Amino acid sequence: MRYYNIPIFVPHYGCPFDCVFCNQKHITGEGEVPSGERADKIIREHLETLPKTDRIIEAAFFGGSFTAVETSLQEELLAAAYEFVKSGEIDGIRLSTRPDFINDEIMQRLISYGVTTVELGVQSMDDGVLFAAGRGHTATDVETAVRVIKKYPVKLGLQMMTGLPSDNDEKSIATAEKIIALKPDFVRIYPTLVIRDTRLCEMYGQGTYRPQELEGAVSLAARLMEMFRKNNITVIRAGLAATEEISPNGALVAGPYHSAFGELCEGELFYNKMLDSLSEGKTAVFAVNPRDISKAIGNGARNMTRFKEQGISVSLIQDEAVPLGEIVRKD
Ligand code: SF4
Repeated sequence: MRYYNIPIFVPHYGCPFDCVFCNQKHITGEGEVPSGERADKIIREHLETLPKTDRIIEAAFFGGSFTAVETSLQEELLAAAYEFVKSGEIDGIRLSTRPDFINDEIMQRLISYGVTTVELGVQSMDDGVLFAAGRGHTATDVETAVRVIKKYPVKLGLQMMTGLPSDNDEKSIATAEKIIALKPDFVRIYPTLVIRDTRLCEMYGQGTYRPQELEGAVSLAARLMEMFRKNNITVIRAGLAATEEISPNGALVAGPYHSAFGELCEGELFYNKMLDSLSEGKTAVFAVNPRDISKAIGNGARNMTRFKEQGISVSLIQDEAVPLGEIVRKD
């Protein structure tokens, strides 16, 4: 069974806040507010290209703060998507929003339109970082929203960012620990990028904000991924998806962007595992599951190059018996 989502972007519209890193128009690559009619068209067009069997499909309202949009527009968009849920053509609806735009009334509305997944933009559980990022909510707001969402039959996703102003690795790790305690079904990890026409871009220009380096962002995100996975929380994404806007030729000004950021993190996890089991030796043979071989080698053979640079000779063999994500020392 494969999972697909049909993204319908709801840009900055309706959001009264101005997070320093956000210019939703650039991040979603779409500036217009969709209508019910447009949502219907987007879903129909995607369905034509998706398989009819062995699939789970959700319409996904992303890109802004869905439940902060005026109620009539929320209902118009949800009603359009709900028709496809009722006809069985899609399996559910997911959306992302802010923690301070969740309450029982809102959740009851979402449930009545067949919403199956709610994602909250948490970003940090450190109030100082939230303040510096201009988020306009606190960590307590996140905890309150999670308590409300958990009363309803929906999946809960929490999104966190790294490298925000006033942030550091220790605060990100503390954020991940607090997110783990909230027991979401899944998380996303986004390193902060500097996007044109944002306050962060001004701060970067004035020298008051320094973005993470790619190496450091990958190493931190890999560590966070491991923490979540050890607690049975699925990491569905690390790094922003590439769009025309979010690319070195688009609105991206600076920051740890890589089109395969998630892959770099997966490779880092394998690199760390292999390095840990090397102890003092300078040669090693590791077996990995065939589905993990490219992660073990690393993006652009990055892991092998790093071992070579340290004078370490590592050989990899493929073995179906090795569990996914694991390595077995063979020498
Ligand atoms: S709450 Fe979301 S949509 Fe609003 S400014 Fe912040 S990141 Fe952008």
